[in-house]
Amino acid sequence: MLRRVFGYDAFRGEQAEIVDHLAQGRDALVLMPTGGGKSLCYQLPALLRTGVGIVVSPLIALMQDQVDALRQNGVAAAFLNSSLDWRAALDIEAAARRGELKLLYVAPERLVTERFLQLLDELAAGPGLALFAIDEAHCVSQWGHDFRPEYLQLSQLHERHPGVPRIALTATADNATREEMRERLGLGAARVFLSSFDRPNIRYTVVEKDNPRRQLLRFLDGHRGQAGIVYCLSRKKVEETADWLVQEGYAALPYHAGLPAETRSEHQRRFQREEGVVMVATIAFGMGIDKPDVRFVAHLDLPKSIEAYYQETGRAGRDGEPAEAWMAYGLQDIALQRARIDESESPPEIKRLEAQKLTALLAYCEAPRCRRMVLLDYFGEASSPCGNCDVCQNPPELFDGTVAAQKALSAAWRTGQRFGAGHLIDVLLGKATDKVARFGHDQLPTFGVGKDVDEHAWRGILRQLVAAGLLQPDLTEYGALKLTEAARPVLKGEQSVQLRRVGRPGKARKTTRAA
Ligand code: ADP
Ligand code: ZN
Repeated sequence: MLRRVFGYDAFRGEQAEIVDHLAQGRDALVLMPTGGGKSLCYQLPALLRTGVGIVVSPLIALMQDQVDALRQNGVAAAFLNSSLDWRAALDIEAAARRGELKLLYVAPERLVTERFLQLLDELAAGPGLALFAIDEAHCVSQWGHDFRPEYLQLSQLHERHPGVPRIALTATADNATREEMRERLGLGAARVFLSSFDRPNIRYTVVEKDNPRRQLLRFLDGHRGQAGIVYCLSRKKVEETADWLVQEGYAALPYHAGLPAETRSEHQRRFQREEGVVMVATIAFGMGIDKPDVRFVAHLDLPKSIEAYYQETGRAGRDGEPAEAWMAYGLQDIALQRARIDESESPPEIKRLEAQKLTALLAYCEAPRCRRMVLLDYFGEASSPCGNCDVCQNPPELFDGTVAAQKALSAAWRTGQRFGAGHLIDVLLGKATDKVARFGHDQLPTFGVGKDVDEHAWRGILRQLVAAGLLQPDLTEYGALKLTEAARPVLKGEQSVQLRRVGRPGKARKTTRAA
């Protein structure tokens, strides 16, 4: 059936085992990276079993594509969502009742209606229910960024139809989300299929932000004529960046939730169909992109977690050909993300969790070791240095940064923890600026103690201290760096600090390019 219906020669990864498991009527939780081939894991068993397979998916655009593809392969498939008028919906329901459908895709908000639950009862009594597939199952996680309240009600599928096998699928797989999915979807006894999350064809790079536009241009230069995505945090920045890239000769289009629906779908369509379109987008552009030849994903702003970063970069290179994940990141990004967490309405325990997730991402950005290993580690997967990331190809020099850290921390301490990186660096370098004079900071013992390295190096040191949780950007006084509890043993000389040597930007870039 794999060959005859889908036209594939062989199963990929764990597909065969998963299909077999489902076909035997058992439950599965499938964690597979984007592009891994999740759809087949429920489509094929639905065809092998009697009755219709019900697929819950939050993505209207994706439903349409999948149903089109299935129909082209001769599979009787249909979807029910808000894009249909009532007449068309009635026709599909009737076809299902007559046993004429093998796969029925349905949006979660429709699935939980009394009307649809009724239809399921009729199907169970009539042509039969082959299976329930819950796609993007991480949407059940209230702590995740794709939370859909209707997903919480999906456990009733099992309560009402205990004999029907279920398969929940996602590409988000940190431990906490995994446990939450098992619990909330009632999949405690389901077999877990965990695929490797490695995307060997993606090359990871993180650069220190100093002139982000110029840095982006340099990066894009190596990708002329190729399709890619540039992620920005705000709608405004999306539009400005897209305009500017157009002026620079790129086929760039903006995408964010503030654009009219028609504009968004037009841009998505062009990205999908035309060659070499660069989509400049907020994270609103995401789930449901099914373009195999996205050659790069660039981040001009820090995402909020490793999961988010992994998902966003995972859109590159789904065809298995070489692709790049590139990010420019700086101190300001950390302050912005911290502010976002602090200003959100979330309860304290969620804020704490989000702060932890941010810290894990910062550790990735500042990693002195293979980026891929850091990513896979996060997903609980052991690996070895990949040879295909910036760190592997250009290992940073590590040094004992205890003294440098003490200088920086005491500069923050002695200036009253009220100043941002720029001013602290002026003090460390002994620059007698107006501001330094006004506050009498030229009288401090710390004034000028950091002349042995340059401004750029200090910036790198401060950023690493923030990433390591020794300094924290204050949110009320925008950007002011405050000491944390963890800074105390370092200041007292009870704990040493390892730092990564941050080279001059020009030099660093030259080596990257040569490589
Ligand atoms: P996911 O939902 O996990 O992101 P998809 O189900 O969309 O992945 O599959 C990704 C791509 O891989 C699709 O283009 C699909 O046609 C292809 N694919 C899936 N399974 C196989 C297979 N066994 N052999 C070849 N190609 C496959
Ligand atoms: Zn590596």
